[in-house]
Amino acid sequence: MSKTISINAGSSSLKWQLYEMPAEKVIAKGLIERIGLKDSISTVKFDGRAEKQILDIDDHTQAVKILLDDLMRFDIIRSYDEITGVGHRVVAGGEYFKESALVDSEEVIQKVEELALLAPLHNKANAAGIRAFKELLPDITSVVVFDTSFHTTMPEKAYRYPLPTKYYTENKVRKYGAHGTSHQYVAKEAAKVLGKPLEELKLITCHIGNGASITAVKEGKSVDTSMGFTPLGGVMMGSRTGDIDPAIIPYLIEHTEDFNTPEDINRILNRESGLLGVSEKSSDMRDIHAAMRAGDAKAQLANDIFVDRIQKYIGQYLAVLNGADAIIFTAGIGENSVTIRRLVIEGISWFGCELDPEKNVFGNYGDISMPDSKVRVLVIPTDEELVIARDVERFKNQK
Ligand code: ADP
Repeated sequence: MSKTISINAGSSSLKWQLYEMPAEKVIAKGLIERIGLKDSISTVKFDGRAEKQILDIDDHTQAVKILLDDLMRFDIIRSYDEITGVGHRVVAGGEYFKESALVDSEEVIQKVEELALLAPLHNKANAAGIRAFKELLPDITSVVVFDTSFHTTMPEKAYRYPLPTKYYTENKVRKYGAHGTSHQYVAKEAAKVLGKPLEELKLITCHIGNGASITAVKEGKSVDTSMGFTPLGGVMMGSRTGDIDPAIIPYLIEHTEDFNTPEDINRILNRESGLLGVSEKSSDMRDIHAAMRAGDAKAQLANDIFVDRIQKYIGQYLAVLNGADAIIFTAGIGENSVTIRRLVIEGISWFGCELDPEKNVFGNYGDISMPDSKVRVLVIPTDEELVIARDVERFKNQK
């Protein structure tokens, strides 16, 4: 047995999960926060324990050092040799990375860095994480897994925007999508639940968390997805707008003091909008629903817009796929919010979807629809870390 670690590096954080492979058993997981700031926090969870440490961590290399030290200190591993693989989640793979790749040369890391053009904060942090592991554990199998790869099968009519062509050819502006590992994972699981080959299915996968995206999956391939050039597009999210009329932006630049620089605009659209912007309360669905129950009209409206946008995207994808075998809910809200699932499906019963109210409340894996529902409705918990660990395993076996 060997151990594989899956890494999700953000600009000031590093989330990790250690697996015993091929058993796919999670041995430990943790989060390092506030990298590059004072009082960074490292949390390690294992054996029902949670150990927290506060110290100054300057950069991602030091964060990886702390993480490896912690694994030894808590006896989770006895030597570094036990770790034979690392998988890095990378946000933007552009048109270049159509699937996961082995980090077997400097060029691969450079390519990830180049693609920072498409996801400035994310890809730079991802590359820092890759370099940190290369420095400290140079000989282990290192793999990059992209959020966008699953969507590289979209047809051009879906990924192109009706802008002048030069912005695609010269500036690479097109739809890339995101959450690819999650959509791919739940689509595969759905085939198991439905007892049919994935190649025969039409699925609508709804990854509804703080970030949210919906994908049309035909014969196991993504044919359209709601996030766009960046994760800002598509359905309404915790603090992101999702789709809005683009003319709003020049209008607000002209008529307000808030929309000045690209940074301002990105901040408002990505961090101050969505559930948070409409409710003026919270980006978290649990808070929205608590406020709604207390009679808060803004929270109610935030909930209503949220449900409306999901229904509209499901409607679009029923058209894109010309029907569907199943709608799948996953991620924080999709897996846990009985209310959101009920409201979404209630409003689209014309298409032949009917929830089993009891299964909707108690089901946390599998089919939650009525026996005669034409389109099945499934809940499938996502597991992006496991997809990453499996990809590493695949490359280890090819070596
Ligand atoms: P991220 O995109 O940050 O990974 P998650 O997938 O963890 O987000 O989803 C976070 C969202 O899930 C939050 O809005 C949270 O309120 C929501 N959520 C988690 N548990 C529940 C629950 N029991 N009921 C309703 N919403 C929930």
